[in-house]
Amino acid sequence: MPMRDTARGTPAIAVEGLHKRFGATHALRGLDLTVPVGTVCGLLGPNGAGKTTAVRVLATLVAPDAGHARVAGFDVVREADAVRRRIGLAGQHAAVEEGITGRDNLYLLGRLHHLGSAAARRRADELLERFDLAEAAHRLVRTYSGGMRRRLDLVASLITQPPVLFLDEPTTGLDPRSRGDIWDTVRELAATGTTVLLTTQYLDEADRLADDIAVMDRGQVIASGPPERLKASIGIRVEVAVRDAAHLGTAAGVLARLTGGEPAADPVARRLGVVTAPGRTVSLPHLVRELDAAGVVALDASLRPPSLDDVFLALTGDGAAARTATTSGEAVR
Ligand code: ATP
Repeated sequence: MPMRDTARGTPAIAVEGLHKRFGATHALRGLDLTVPVGTVCGLLGPNGAGKTTAVRVLATLVAPDAGHARVAGFDVVREADAVRRRIGLAGQHAAVEEGITGRDNLYLLGRLHHLGSAAARRRADELLERFDLAEAAHRLVRTYSGGMRRRLDLVASLITQPPVLFLDEPTTGLDPRSRGDIWDTVRELAATGTTVLLTTQYLDEADRLADDIAVMDRGQVIASGPPERLKASIGIRVEVAVRDAAHLGTAAGVLARLTGGEPAADPVARRLGVVTAPGRTVSLPHLVRELDAAGVVALDASLRPPSLDDVFLALTGDGAAARTATTSGEAVR
């Protein structure tokens, strides 16, 4: 079990008014964040929002210019050593040794962290087994896929059984299957009571893993809460493809009436999209019946959670910030 030396009721992560500048860039502008012990917090935001900087401050890798942050009950500036002993960090770039096996990577890390030889071996085997890497344990890391390296890196951050784990965009650039494997690993970790702060550009990732989501933009948290509440506060994206471009206007009228939103039309693709007003429920059969009644032939109709762009549009009225994060298409799913 992870170390539980955090006093009952004290959050695992408590951040108040953090500021950090890099020259002219104001990366953090008064960041506030509270993560209760044993929960997974998804820090969601587009490129440049300040997610990595927040994690680096919390992991004691850079000092803030102003504000306070406590991790596992200790101040990240005044008690940096105590914080370091209680955290794990894994990120976008797997920091594992290529020329040795997965098992040796974990064994050596264990030794580095002052485990005895037998204990280091035991811990390595236990982690490889638990996180489904046993089969690859004796292969050189050089032969691992990107997803396996990332998982080994994640597992390596658990050698010391830290009560608080930072995962900085753990699945960016991975294929869907590897993303799924990482998600399983994070879920497994969370089930053991580890507090996880996970940064991501993917709403679906935060949605699947996090107890709470904090949406960051330009160095601040602009909205936070459980995923369901956050999404409900934004609405559901409704999309319709019509057979005839001439029907777009009529279809837009139906969509506006049902959703309480303003549909945007793409005449070339003959598609319409709109996010429902908060709290408004729309069912697919009802939508299709209403389109039918209005004489619109729909080729396709779908309801899905809002994309990151939708979230940003709803929260800031400015989707441009999110657009940088959604260049891969996958990011908006
Ligand atoms: P990404 O999703 O791209 O990782 P992010 O939300 O993690 O983005 P940060 O990496 O924290 O964002 O960057 C926030 C801002 O601070 C950006 O404008 C970035 O260019 C800038 N920045 C971060 N680190 C440094 C640094 N060491 N020197 C100069 N500028 C920096």
